[in-house]
Amino acid sequence: MKPDAIVVGAGPNGLFAACRLARAGRKVLVVEAESRPGGALWSEERTQPGYLHDVGAGFIAFRDSAAFTALDLERHGLAFALCDVESAHPALDGSCAVISRDPERSASSFVDALDRQAFARLVGFHRRVEPHIMASLGPFPQIGPALRMGLNGARLASYFLRSSGGLGRHLFRSEAARRVIPAMGLHVDVGPDDRFGAALAYVLALRAATSGYAVPIGGAKAITQALIAELESHSGSVRLGQPVTKIEVEGRRAVAVTLGSGERIDTDGPVLADTSAPSLYLNLLGEPHVPSRIRQRMQRFPMGWGTFKVDFALDAPVPWQAQACRSAAVVHVGESIEDLRRFTEQVRGGDLPEQPYLVVGQHTLADPSRAPEGRHTLYVYTHAPSTLDPGRYPGGWPAWREHLADRVRARIEWLAPGFSRHVIGRRISDPEDLERMDRNLVGGDMGGGTSQWWHQLVFRPVFPYFRYRTPVRGVYLASSYAHPGAGIHGMCGWNAAGIALRDYR
Ligand SMILES: Cc1cc2nc3c(=O)[nH]c(=O)nc-3n(C[C@H](O)[C@H](O)[C@H](O)COP(=O)(O)OP(=O)(O)OC[C@H]3O[C@@H](n4cnc5c(N)ncnc54)[C@H](O)[C@@H]3O)c2cc1C
Repeated sequence: MKPDAIVVGAGPNGLFAACRLARAGRKVLVVEAESRPGGALWSEERTQPGYLHDVGAGFIAFRDSAAFTALDLERHGLAFALCDVESAHPALDGSCAVISRDPERSASSFVDALDRQAFARLVGFHRRVEPHIMASLGPFPQIGPALRMGLNGARLASYFLRSSGGLGRHLFRSEAARRVIPAMGLHVDVGPDDRFGAALAYVLALRAATSGYAVPIGGAKAITQALIAELESHSGSVRLGQPVTKIEVEGRRAVAVTLGSGERIDTDGPVLADTSAPSLYLNLLGEPHVPSRIRQRMQRFPMGWGTFKVDFALDAPVPWQAQACRSAAVVHVGESIEDLRRFTEQVRGGDLPEQPYLVVGQHTLADPSRAPEGRHTLYVYTHAPSTLDPGRYPGGWPAWREHLADRVRARIEWLAPGFSRHVIGRRISDPEDLERMDRNLVGGDMGGGTSQWWHQLVFRPVFPYFRYRTPVRGVYLASSYAHPGAGIHGMCGWNAAGIALRDYR
């Protein structure tokens, strides 16, 4: 039967969009290029049998977004687990500030008394503004939530106007506390000195103190599977292994999609693309349908850095020297703001980082079902150039991946002597592997394009198409390349579907 909405791509945003459309009564078909759904939200046995690793997103900081709340995926068996500590920030000098949902636990880790008070005040402030920040994940602009913040809004703006390192220095006295917020900006391509970089880093840090970094039980794929169950309960369906190569346009309106096999699927409804913005504008929509200015912008689309991920299978938990790390969902490795700055400069300069900043995920502490009893998985990523300059790095990624993975292992070993002895399996994903796995991860960028301030809000993905619509009627961008960007909150797809439903009412 002819679908009356088509979603291109079964990543989380595509599936959230599909669910919203299906719940509104549309007969939705999701078409996915790969042989499995989920995009960067999936899990596989990547190292050894019995060890389940998340291929991309591993920690969910926005499971109370409007999209998650509306779908109530727990009805389909989705459950989350949490660790005692959300984020630990160790250094070689033995200091280790942590963020926990338990304010006492966080406070006791800030050794400087003034820092302790400053962090407690910050969390108190954040609890007041958080509902408004969450509301701002809707389609931009969200004037109401901004106004409702009142004077708190002015204080928040004074934070957001800083760099992440600047905010760390403004709030705290000790280096142990100062490095916490800028470490969060480096989840994506926001370095400690980057202008207005504090906003993203602040939100990621403070969400740890409120919602926590939740771990889906059974792996990240449990979210994808719950989304598909929800979609199917509303008569929607997913077709796998079918790349969409073209959106057919007649009279400036989308009327069908064409698959790689040549098959054409007609529709009288909207087409939502959970694709990269350049792929939508340059490949799926033909040249006559996109103004040349927009095409030029897409040809020079600003991507974020590459991501370099290493999954480990371990025969024991990581023997971190800092006790707090032993019960942390995520350990952020970076000695100081200066260390994070050096890392940023090296990646931006096209070098492999000498001391890679690390995001270390310890899923099995929260969800032991992901490994055989007493065993553990470890999920580690850093950033690196998307492509390696052949002059400096002959042979490119295939020749250098083991080298960088060894630096990653060595950095953990410094903080957890004896770590290497527990490694019984390791699997590397360099930026090229990540793009091969999911074509939206262009150059291994996990952010859906750069996360710098000049590419946000009205500039995401390109002005004036920041409200999911495109120059072709009935075609919407629903992926993390749209506002509010990367992360498992579902809001890019949810918002796009809301706008499409409004247009088709
Ligand atoms: C290593 C890594 C770690 C991460 N960690 C976290 C984390 O801990 N927490 C968090 O919140 N976020 C994390 N993220 C980010 C998060 O995974 C992404 O923001 C999110 O997956 C984006 O969802 P999406 O649906 O927009 O795109 P994707 O997840 O990339 O899915 C897009 C889908 O569309 C399909 N597709 C694209 N083009 C076509 C086409 N032409 N035809 C058919 N199908 C197509 C792709 O095959 C893919 O399945 C991480 C990402 C990576 C890579």
